[in-house]
Amino acid sequence: MKPAKFEYHAPETIDEALFLAAQYGDDARVIAGGQSLVPMMNIRLAQPDHVIDINNIGGLSYVREDGESVEIGALTRHHRIEKSSELMRLCPPLPAAARNIGHYALRERGTIGGSLALADPAAEFPLMAMLLDAGIMVRSTLGERVIHASDFFVSVFTTSLEPGEIVTGIRFRALAQGEGWGFRWLARRSGDYAIVNAAATLALDSGGRIGRIAMALGGVGATPVRLTALEQSAIGGETIGGWAGAIAAEAAVLVEPESDKNASAEFRKELIEVLLEKSLEDALARARGQAVV
Ligand SMILES: Cc1cc2nc3c(=O)[nH]c(=O)nc-3n(C[C@H](O)[C@H](O)[C@H](O)COP(=O)(O)OP(=O)(O)OC[C@H]3O[C@@H](n4cnc5c(N)ncnc54)[C@H](O)[C@@H]3O)c2cc1C
Repeated sequence: MKPAKFEYHAPETIDEALFLAAQYGDDARVIAGGQSLVPMMNIRLAQPDHVIDINNIGGLSYVREDGESVEIGALTRHHRIEKSSELMRLCPPLPAAARNIGHYALRERGTIGGSLALADPAAEFPLMAMLLDAGIMVRSTLGERVIHASDFFVSVFTTSLEPGEIVTGIRFRALAQGEGWGFRWLARRSGDYAIVNAAATLALDSGGRIGRIAMALGGVGATPVRLTALEQSAIGGETIGGWAGAIAAEAAVLVEPESDKNASAEFRKELIEVLLEKSLEDALARARGQAVV
């Protein structure tokens, strides 16, 4: 199929793009990598009257260290994130997540801003945004704001972006010295979206107990979820015996996934247990400086 008729705009500055976005509001869609928008337009799930192509705007593709954070431009391609030595040093879960997205051709075009704005609940970057306390930097003709990931994802394919707002960058928490991480998923085939994905970070305190922990799950509801209450109760715990399995079993009780064409709710609960346990074990191994295969 072909898309419905639309007017194409190719602004060369962010101010020009913001002006167009303000002028056309709900009738316009930004196009970044086009990897999701173009198929949606082709099957007429999306029929914008105006398409604002942000690819000619300079300064939206970058990776930048910023104190204890790392900032990534909205137009940064998945492939660049996957290969970034700076990110491997500062925030290694992000290259690992990028590596797992679709296929190579898609990673060459798809952008982190597009992935977040799309808000697929099983996608890698929304999961990482929840795990790593991301701030989504957004601009409109009215000004600039930063939306915390927990306020950004509203429902399936729905964010708190207002008409006229464009994502310009994303700020992630960088991992601290000695902080380990884990990321596990299950998909039907290589390159498919995950049925469920799980990610964790963990640092030990001076006594060898859990000093800092973060856990997030994707593919278990309308948005990726952060297991904040479980994190609080895990602090100070020992990492002996079946510690990771016990936390993961609690998560599977707390989270209520729904059945859909890809998997039943029961199977998703099983995946939560297995994938979160392995993510936590990987995070502990890395926190101890051990290799993870
Ligand atoms: C076959 C296939 C397999 C895939 N597998 C995976 C996978 O395994 N894991 C995964 O995470 N993703 C997967 N994806 C999605 C992929 O990551 C895309 O990159 C992502 O959907 C959107 O990025 P994009 O830059 O192409 O955005 P586009 O397609 O250009 O835009 C997507 C949406 O975001 C909006 N948008 C884009 N940029 C901005 C911005 N800066 N500000 C405001 N709104 C914006 C657009 O208006 C549109 O609504 C897959 C996609 C396909 C087609």
